[in-house]
Amino acid sequence: MTQVYNFSSGPAMLPVEVLRRAEQELTNWHGLGTSVMEISHRSKEFIAVAEAAEQDFRDLLKIPANYKVLFCHGGARAQFAAIPGNLLGDAKTADYIDGGYWAHSAIKEAEKFCSPNTIDIKATRDGKRALLPMREWQLNDDAAYVHFCPNETIDGIAIDEEPDFGDKIVVADLSSTILSRPIDVSRYGVIYAGAQKNIGPAGLTLVVVREDLLGKAQRYVPSILDYKVLAENESMFNTPPTFAWYLSGLVFKWLKEKGGVAEMDKLNQAKADLLYGVIDNSAFYRNDVASENRSRMNVPFQLADSSLDKVFLEESLKAGLHALKGHRVVGGMRASIYNAMPLEGVKTLTEFMVDFERRHG
Ligand code: PMP
Repeated sequence: MTQVYNFSSGPAMLPVEVLRRAEQELTNWHGLGTSVMEISHRSKEFIAVAEAAEQDFRDLLKIPANYKVLFCHGGARAQFAAIPGNLLGDAKTADYIDGGYWAHSAIKEAEKFCSPNTIDIKATRDGKRALLPMREWQLNDDAAYVHFCPNETIDGIAIDEEPDFGDKIVVADLSSTILSRPIDVSRYGVIYAGAQKNIGPAGLTLVVVREDLLGKAQRYVPSILDYKVLAENESMFNTPPTFAWYLSGLVFKWLKEKGGVAEMDKLNQAKADLLYGVIDNSAFYRNDVASENRSRMNVPFQLADSSLDKVFLEESLKAGLHALKGHRVVGGMRASIYNAMPLEGVKTLTEFMVDFERRHG
């Protein structure tokens, strides 16, 4: 079998070194004669795994000491409900920035718990899809917090600015961008991310919450989504997704060995430049997002002649380039190029694209 590159948006490609390590120790983890999946989450062996993973994650994102890291269940969508439940307090509204599919989905969920103040930032610039810059966001004084999604996985559109809204509690859905670039955690009240894109296997969700925001959950919030309960129980109020936690820990170690988030930032820029460069240099391919809002993680592109989509997907699959089909609401193609995707994978994709154009253009 030749090398396969998996461009899936999530669950997504994992570093092959991490998978090999997991394979080696699968049936006899640390000499225990069992797998890490089969031991108690309260055993000293698993606690060591859990603590190391948290520490490495903290180091990678430079998380200040006054933030808790919670290892949760339920994916990012559970957080869509947990956020209002934990942060609304006595307020009746929260600001929700709408820049795409996932931000909009968060608003739909928030409507169950409050009257979200939706701030639509979708715009066009030079005929391309764009987002309004933060200085133009009209925030509301009554809002308990402002929620936004810096990288829209489906729309392939992103906000690279970091928030600077004074005392406002800023909440960000980082599901498809976490660890891809350095961020200043102190600017956020809560950040959260489903693990299955840029961290590890599905089933784990990371939440980073500033300590002063704990203890404000509404009565209706299920205990497993109450940040205070989770923090007090070191994310073990109920049984955590132990295998996903362990594997994510291996990914964090891998990231550190690769030079951490600063190195990933450079690599992700190089990968995105290469792919957008090929798209922009051709009339055969097209990306309709304004350059300053292009996602470096999820690159949607269309073929000028969409009747070739099917053969593009068939041929790319044969060439070992998997999961390039665009999301059903957008169509066309999408290449998700998270941290685990090597530059070589993007080179192979761009070479395939150039060759495909030569043969079919
Ligand atoms: N937010 C973003 C930005 C996402 O990309 C996704 C998943 N594609 C979600 C939320 C939903 O995540 P989950 O399936 O983990 O609930």
